[in-house]
Amino acid sequence: MGLKPFEESVAAALAESARGDYQAATERLSIALLQCPASHQRGRARVLAQLAHDYPRLGNLQASVRCASDAAVQADALTSLSFVYAQLLMGRDALECGLRALACARSGADPVREAWALNRIGVAYSSLDNPVQACDTTAQALEIALPQGNSELSFSCLNNQAYYWLSRRTEAHRRQDAEALAFARTQARKLSEQATAQARASGSHFQVAVAVSNLVEALLGCEEYSAARPLLDEFEALARQHGYLALQLQATVQRALILKANGQIDAALRQLQTLMDSQRDRLPPKLLRGLIYSLYETHKACGDYRAALDHLERHTELERQTARDTMALQTEVMLIRQEVEQAHARAEHAMQDVQRERKRARELERDQLRLRDQAAALDRAAHEDVLTGLHNRRHAEFALPLLIEGARQAGKPISLAMLDVDHFKQVNDDFGHGVGDRVLQQLAQLLRQKVRSADLLARVGGEEFVIALVGTQPDRALEICERLRQAVADYPWGQVAPGLRVRVSIGLAAGEPPAEARLLQERSDRALYAAKRSGRDRVCSG
Ligand code: GH3
Ligand code: MG
Ligand code: MG
Repeated sequence: MGLKPFEESVAAALAESARGDYQAATERLSIALLQCPASHQRGRARVLAQLAHDYPRLGNLQASVRCASDAAVQADALTSLSFVYAQLLMGRDALECGLRALACARSGADPVREAWALNRIGVAYSSLDNPVQACDTTAQALEIALPQGNSELSFSCLNNQAYYWLSRRTEAHRRQDAEALAFARTQARKLSEQATAQARASGSHFQVAVAVSNLVEALLGCEEYSAARPLLDEFEALARQHGYLALQLQATVQRALILKANGQIDAALRQLQTLMDSQRDRLPPKLLRGLIYSLYETHKACGDYRAALDHLERHTELERQTARDTMALQTEVMLIRQEVEQAHARAEHAMQDVQRERKRARELERDQLRLRDQAAALDRAAHEDVLTGLHNRRHAEFALPLLIEGARQAGKPISLAMLDVDHFKQVNDDFGHGVGDRVLQQLAQLLRQKVRSADLLARVGGEEFVIALVGTQPDRALEICERLRQAVADYPWGQVAPGLRVRVSIGLAAGEPPAEARLLQERSDRALYAAKRSGRDRVCSG
């Protein structure tokens, strides 16, 4: 799936979710998730966060945890996770996730997410049996939510507050605190009316059904039965039409309460009993408990204490069973969380391994480069004369045959000059070895300057140098050698050591390149010997 169809699919799922069509939305999102391009991390996180948000509405808390844990970096996912923990009565985990989501949203200066986080913190407080704190937090959420014009968010804040006030009403009733009861009644009614108005404006059937069911509950608490009845009919019809089972059952229980309040206790009892007999296996535990409690109360009101006690005992047993089920679910959730964390850790380790491997590869490459540089330096050193920086004998022996062969193939002439310092032993004897060395260095520099076109210039012995020129005619080579000899004779050697005088003899062999390098070398050696013998400080050609 490309990015565009993916985005379209997500947008369609969001619209379905907003309409309360969670089944269709989760199916579409699951497909989108499978087909989401691997590189599209943000898209993937968004889908997971939305799935985490939608799954609880279908009663699938485990799936929600799985999705939310996977995308836990996001405030949205943390918010959903907080909600799911609250449903599982894991109040402390719910609170922790909610607070983390809140910190996330605040650091991102994101008011919508901040309000969602506060709203879920409210749910967490409610699951910790603290409806007062739940109301306060949710009121804060609503204050932030209203200017944002996000209808689902505002609805959720209003609806949750209505629900908490209903809880506070029950609590005040139990404590027989008349003042608190009256206030809670008013608040529950006011907020459920606001939530209903908000839900109607949004067009979500689910929101309308939930909000109206709370409003009916609030009205029943105020004994306004005639106002409650049409609303009850309305949400019951919606619940039937869209398959919201819990709300359908709630409607039946509320209907029985109205009958009971009107003195039609037998009819109420029949209705509750019918529901019990027909739906028993389909009822979610919370509703089953509520229904059995209503039966207990109704039987008590009839004076049938035996049946009342029966139901009370069953109610107690069910509460125990629910506690056990909740524990099992909590355990499962913790296992899922651990599984996801381990998967994250494994992925993290794999990533570290890859990084280590890459680092090692880089180091190896660096080592290789260093070795290559070292090899090149060694190679240079093997071919270089340390004292003068010229090529050494080894290099000359290697290069000369190649030069001669190259010249031969190109049909060019070649000249080989052997240069030897005259009476150099005497220089050492008279001026010391150090001066001798400096003479050799200075001489090398002169040679470098004067025979720039040399194809080979090397120091091949103590005070012996070789110069090879390819493509230079023999008379021109002779000129070059003569100029060289002159330059050495003219050099102000007195600057190196007072009274120092340096002269050189040169033997030149020039012409057609011979078949063997040795032949050319022998000729130049002979010419040098001739130059020495005939008085030194001269060039002889042979
Ligand atoms: P000729 O004119 O016949 O060439 O006489 P010569 O003294 O130059 O020749 P000989 O071969 O007798 O002496 C060469 C001297 O060069 C001997 C040696 O001490 C000196 N020599 C060789 N290598 C070096 C070096 O690296 N540094 C110095 N200072 N002297 C060196
Ligand atoms: Mg010599
Ligand atoms: Mg010499």
